[in-house]
Amino acid sequence: MSKNLIERLNEGPVLCAEGYLFAMERRGYLSAGAFVPEVVLEHPEVVSQLHREFIRAGSDVIQAFTYYAHREKLRLIGKEELLEPMQKNALQIARDSREEFKDLDLLVCGDVANTNIYDPNDKKSHSECQRMYEEQVLWAKEAGVDFVVAETINWTGEMKIALKAIKDAGLIAVTNFSIKATDKTRDGHTPEDACKIMEDLGADVVGLNCYRGPKMTMKFLPKIREKVSCHVAALPVPYRTTEKQPGFLNQTDHGCDCIPGDNAFPVALDNLYCNRFEMAEFAKECANKKINFIGICCGAEPHHVREMSVALGRKPISYKYYPDMSKHWLHGKNKSFLEINTSMSKKY
Ligand SMILES: [Zn+2]
Repeated sequence: MSKNLIERLNEGPVLCAEGYLFAMERRGYLSAGAFVPEVVLEHPEVVSQLHREFIRAGSDVIQAFTYYAHREKLRLIGKEELLEPMQKNALQIARDSREEFKDLDLLVCGDVANTNIYDPNDKKSHSECQRMYEEQVLWAKEAGVDFVVAETINWTGEMKIALKAIKDAGLIAVTNFSIKATDKTRDGHTPEDACKIMEDLGADVVGLNCYRGPKMTMKFLPKIREKVSCHVAALPVPYRTTEKQPGFLNQTDHGCDCIPGDNAFPVALDNLYCNRFEMAEFAKECANKKINFIGICCGAEPHHVREMSVALGRKPISYKYYPDMSKHWLHGKNKSFLEINTSMSKKY
């Protein structure tokens, strides 16, 4: 029998590629703003292809693309009746992807996220959240997922509800907070305190995802690692967010004066992109600090994931096409190259 998530983490890093929402928006299969993953019904083949590319790049986890496929979002676009088919299709696509790579021993996970209806002062919203989480976790369980991630949640209170739904279903739970510019959850907990609360309530893995780039995520990780005894997760966005603007929801691109509203989030972040080597450094630093659930969130593309995988000492499938600049006509060293070209390598 294959090992579960915790057994895998006990042995070392597990790599998890995410970022389906942004990737699908860039490719023209869903709309920024509402960000509803209708693509899982309209073009399942495109979702399969991105799973395939992430797996080839070294992701150990196939995350079913159920992020934002929840009642609040579907109500927003007037298509609540699509909720269940959307969830079930996303889970099936993820399972089919695992079948495609039988030799790799991949993990499939379900995903629940920020509901956007949680209000600490409105008890009714808590039971509504609970219903939303329970129905999604049930579908994930029926699909036989290996674990469920609750992610991109900024309220400790909301995360508690999500965690309870996952644990009540008897599943392994990963709880990942997104931390806004105050450096705290919206109910005022430091990241390490919020993570500790989740560990004490039964979370199997605790950590951070989304909003912040690698540096602004890393700044919290040592304290979390110190505070909890369970495994820690870290999945930043691949953007160079700063102390001044730690989260990507508010980003100024000083090199550009034609971004509508002057906020580069979410569709004009290109100039703030981390390259593959920056993401590789992040992965290495996590591994050195015993943060074993390592990943990448909104903005991820397979080239980031491959470099992270290589940084962890692996050779994923797409390593076959790893860069080899020694074979480049200008920068390379091959004897067949013309001296009139290679001699100009620093002058182009
Ligand atoms: Zn994200």
